[in-house]
Amino acid sequence: MKSNEFSITFLGVSAASINPFSTTSTCLVEAGNTKIMVDVGIGALRQLHKMHVNPGEIDAVLITHWHFDHYAGLPSLLKSRKRNSLLSVYGPKLSIAARIYLVGLLHSKHACFELVQGNFCKDCGDIHLETVPTVHGIVSFGWVLAERFPREKQGRRRIVVSGDTRPAQTIIDAAKKADLLVHEATYSEKHANEAYNHEHSTVAEAATLASGACVGALALVHIAHQNSKLGALKEAEKIFPQVLAPSPLDRIDIDALPADTNKENGGWGQVRMVKYPIRKKCEIVNHHPGLWCHRK
Ligand SMILES: [Zn+2]
Ligand SMILES: [Zn+2]
Repeated sequence: MKSNEFSITFLGVSAASINPFSTTSTCLVEAGNTKIMVDVGIGALRQLHKMHVNPGEIDAVLITHWHFDHYAGLPSLLKSRKRNSLLSVYGPKLSIAARIYLVGLLHSKHACFELVQGNFCKDCGDIHLETVPTVHGIVSFGWVLAERFPREKQGRRRIVVSGDTRPAQTIIDAAKKADLLVHEATYSEKHANEAYNHEHSTVAEAATLASGACVGALALVHIAHQNSKLGALKEAEKIFPQVLAPSPLDRIDIDALPADTNKENGGWGQVRMVKYPIRKKCEIVNHHPGLWCHRK
């Protein structure tokens, strides 16, 4: 990766109840030489192999919350790394179920688990990390991933990943003018009651939140199987047109603005989606009006 690139690749976008061949919530944020995974769902390791990324190259893992679809791939990721490389895993206090599942790894040479609470922030290589408290029935966090070193005039590029949550003011605050908000959109509007009962968000709620935060673009993930991506896009576009629904292994690049661009805050980046397969010559998808956001 070139030193000025800043991107997120969606290894898995499925919610928990999807078929066994799909990969659940997992993404990889890359900036300069730093690679950070946000959640490690079912099938995450297989997806890394498809990207030709060596698991040993991952610098840190951020867990949004300890529901199975967000951490089930952690043991295979950790065991695929060389024994002498310790991987930092940041996340909320582990649930009992997660402790049982990960019991052999919690004190192993493979990983260092750091439990985060409150307002946690840390620099990790070329990326600055911050937590955002969210609302999901158990302790849960969204994550802000920003360029560690702001450019002189253009500021920092910034991605916010919500994890599973009800719509939260904390996300709006953290995502103000971010380049990209990756927000869960488990249910359509006609299943709004289920979203409320299961502490998830609807597509419309995610879009309303993106609009309120004035983000550059919104990526919808964690869409429940009964709700098609196309349907989700149509529903969201009515509220917030700069919306994307990435498929597994799609990548979103946040391009750096030219050096003479003046901006006071983040959120003015150039956002574009690169469809998988990314190994071939990149196909830039721009048939959709929401795929490009270049605001002045
Ligand atoms: Zn989930
Ligand atoms: Zn969850």
